[in-house]
Amino acid sequence: MDQGVKDPFAWIAPRLAELKEAGLDRGLRVFEAANLPENVVDGRPVVQFSSNNYLGLATHPRVLRAAEEALKRYGAGSGASRLISGTQTPHYHLENSIAKFKGAEGALVYGAGILANLGLLPCLASDKDIILLDKSVHASLYDGARLSGAEVRRFPHGDLARLEDTLKQVAGLAGRRVLVVVEAVYSMDGDILPLPSLLALSEKYGAMLVVDEAHSTGVLGSGGKGILEHFSLPWHPNLVLVGTLSKALGTLGGFVAGPADLVSWLKNSSRSFIFATALPGLCAAAADEALSVIQDEPERVARLWKNRHILANGLAALGWDLGRSATPILPIAVGSAAQAVSLQQHLWDLGYYVPAIRPPTVPAGACRLRITVTSEHREDHITGLLGALGGKP
Ligand code: PMP
Repeated sequence: MDQGVKDPFAWIAPRLAELKEAGLDRGLRVFEAANLPENVVDGRPVVQFSSNNYLGLATHPRVLRAAEEALKRYGAGSGASRLISGTQTPHYHLENSIAKFKGAEGALVYGAGILANLGLLPCLASDKDIILLDKSVHASLYDGARLSGAEVRRFPHGDLARLEDTLKQVAGLAGRRVLVVVEAVYSMDGDILPLPSLLALSEKYGAMLVVDEAHSTGVLGSGGKGILEHFSLPWHPNLVLVGTLSKALGTLGGFVAGPADLVSWLKNSSRSFIFATALPGLCAAAADEALSVIQDEPERVARLWKNRHILANGLAALGWDLGRSATPILPIAVGSAAQAVSLQQHLWDLGYYVPAIRPPTVPAGACRLRITVTSEHREDHITGLLGALGGKP
């Protein structure tokens, strides 16, 4: 920069230095192969426990074939927003498949799970309304709630007594809609939502209930259908499900599943749906095939849970605190950011990649190593990680 010209971005360098000082700076690691357990990361062969590709469907031959055929037929991009000319046959088929898979009247596909969350909440609530969020919900649900202009109140994670206290205060206020927002499987804790209690509360107080199924689709229930299957429950009239095509379904995209009128309302008012270019048809075709594979090969879900049990039991036997985890997301409590980074480095040196999760993703002091196991991990991968975690650094 010329002498005398003030750099308007000069404020960034000290901010970055502060992050580094606090052990909170982040960088990107480059993975050289598909997102499977064995990978080469930044040039180093490692076994990774960091993927949301829970069932290995990102490289399933049937999913790849569906994507390739759609690529040839519809091209690499959809060319327009859904409402203009971007809706292709695979979107149409996928929406029908998602609705059927989830037991909903209808479904709508978005360009990503984050776009579904940002687009949904402002269509359900506006400035006269109130949104009650579990404190541990994903950032995109917070952002969607803020975008809605509604009053936002957070309740402590999983604290249904506190939720009910607030519902008592706000339900029935004339002209005020109430929306409760939770996750089926919490992405940083790995615990499962007690859905029957939430449905009972939403019914009692006339609230809409949004459940994010990002980490439960393909994971919960013996058929991988998600939280309703897990509790053997049919669809419920107070319910809206949101989810992603980007985790167990192995590709990219998001969805909302719910009442037919809601789907029509979203098509007419959801900004991240209306103003975004449609998801490429190849992703929709891949996700649709992934839904079929899950139903045709239930052994994948069974293998995921078998691996989860072996790893969780092994970690518990070594004395690691898994908190409330009841799923393939196994966070081990570490404490400070520095301790989390040091444990991550210890594992890395032994050939394992497990990400350290630090603020702003989790509160300060609640840093963790977030282990995720998939159906594709072999027993030797799991025993190897347990061996590496046995001797603490
Ligand atoms: N909700 C939750 C709970 C998530 O974990 C994520 C992904 N991190 C999303 C939504 C966003 O989904 P996507 O990655 O498809 O944008």
